[in-house]
Amino acid sequence: MSKILLHTCCAPCSSAIVEWMLANGMRPVIFYSNSNIYPVEEYEHRRSECARYAAENGIMMVEDQYDHTSWLNCTTGLEGEPERGARCLQCFRYRLKRAAQYAQDNGFDLLTTTLASSRWKSLDQINMAGREACEGTSVEWWDKNWRKGGLQQRRDQIIRERNFYNQQYCGCEFSIRKEL
Ligand code: SF4
Repeated sequence: MSKILLHTCCAPCSSAIVEWMLANGMRPVIFYSNSNIYPVEEYEHRRSECARYAAENGIMMVEDQYDHTSWLNCTTGLEGEPERGARCLQCFRYRLKRAAQYAQDNGFDLLTTTLASSRWKSLDQINMAGREACEGTSVEWWDKNWRKGGLQQRRDQIIRERNFYNQQYCGCEFSIRKEL
């Protein structure tokens, strides 16, 4: 059985993927690596919802270091980009690189991300960033399309059933300006 690291952005996006993995005999470890989120109170709120869902399912969650300054440095010059633009690709690269490093250091075989469950994000960008992150490591990027097979509908059901906090913007300060 492969050892799976599931990079997680939030509980709503994790919901159906975790359920599907458990139903198919897989026990992922959740890796919460989201230095993009602003402000820190929002980061903590999303983190506690993820931790609650992990605990309810009896799976382990690892929290990465939160370093929003470093994330901002990585996306400098791209502040005005639209969603699905160049800033988002950098954002995926930043987080998935850290996830791939953790996976490599801790003997995981496969890496995937809940980012891929959101229809607001570009699957091509996510897969490009994931493949790049795993390049030169012993970790394989798992590019399964997590929007198919009824998982999108199941995601919406679980959000209602579990009464998750369902955030109103993607995560960074630039997405707040665009959406509110
Ligand atoms: S809009 Fe979302 S994916 Fe794009 S840079 Fe901001 S937090 Fe990252």
